[in-house]
Amino acid sequence: SPAVRRSMWTVEDVKRTLPSRDDHSHKGSHGKGLVIGGSLLMPGSAAMTSRAALRSGAGLIAIATEEGAVPSISPYVQEATFVERETMELSAYDGVAAGMGIGRGADARALVHHVVTHTKGPLLIDADGLYVLKDFLGKLEKREEPTILTPHPGEFAHLTGRSIKDVLLSPFSLAEAFARRYGVYLVLKGPSTIITAPDGEQRVDVTGNSGLAKGGSGDALAGILLTMLMQSESMLDGLSSGCVLHGHTADRVVQQGRSKVDLLATDVIEGLPGTFRTLS
Ligand code: AMP
Ligand code: MG
Repeated sequence: SPAVRRSMWTVEDVKRTLPSRDDHSHKGSHGKGLVIGGSLLMPGSAAMTSRAALRSGAGLIAIATEEGAVPSISPYVQEATFVERETMELSAYDGVAAGMGIGRGADARALVHHVVTHTKGPLLIDADGLYVLKDFLGKLEKREEPTILTPHPGEFAHLTGRSIKDVLLSPFSLAEAFARRYGVYLVLKGPSTIITAPDGEQRVDVTGNSGLAKGGSGDALAGILLTMLMQSESMLDGLSSGCVLHGHTADRVVQQGRSKVDLLATDVIEGLPGTFRTLS
């Protein structure tokens, strides 16, 4: 039988592989990312994903959201620009992250279908984006650049048509089968997170704590991953490091004043600077 390729990814691995920041770099060197997320009733998701991407070192972030949500998002991410969903240039970016806070209706479904069929570069899909993606999963097989899906067990159950109980009983084998079948990188989130490459290789991230079991945590992770996927030479290393940066930062912030009870996703985002300081 083929060798099992599965290993733990730790802070030491992050240190060893973290992209370096060249003294002569400019903002284009660090990735120009697009966040397609947020809506009138869920503006915070796009704000947190974008801010997490910028706090992780992205050079430029543009946000495509519902027009009415712009005033509620922009004060929290002054460094970002906004683009209209109708005219967004999906091929003008080094990475695209889509789906957080977009809702699950027909508009969201049409939006994600458009994004999946027109984005040429690396594409990450999260949250509501995963929910509506279920109807055209087969389109992912046609993409030539990396696709990254970041479900929690409930979203993965929805995507696979399995029960959450099944997902929790066999996360490794279900993740591997899914990643191979659709040719995607799968980040199956939870107290331990399993990162699977399209060839079945798997990484496990055991950082993080129950303070992350709160709305917003996944949005912050998506932003960190957007930056990592734009900057890393190895997609699997970059995604694994992004998960460890997220969980390890949550652990540091809880050691340094917050508790698991009160930790917020925004605390994790603002804890990233402390993590980067210890890593470089
Ligand atoms: P989401 O469910 O999309 O908000 O994502 C939750 C994020 O928090 C993922 O990165 C999970 O890995 C992480 N997370 C949630 N609960 C825990 C937990 N009990 N221990 C460690 N990490 C967690
Ligand atoms: Mg989520």
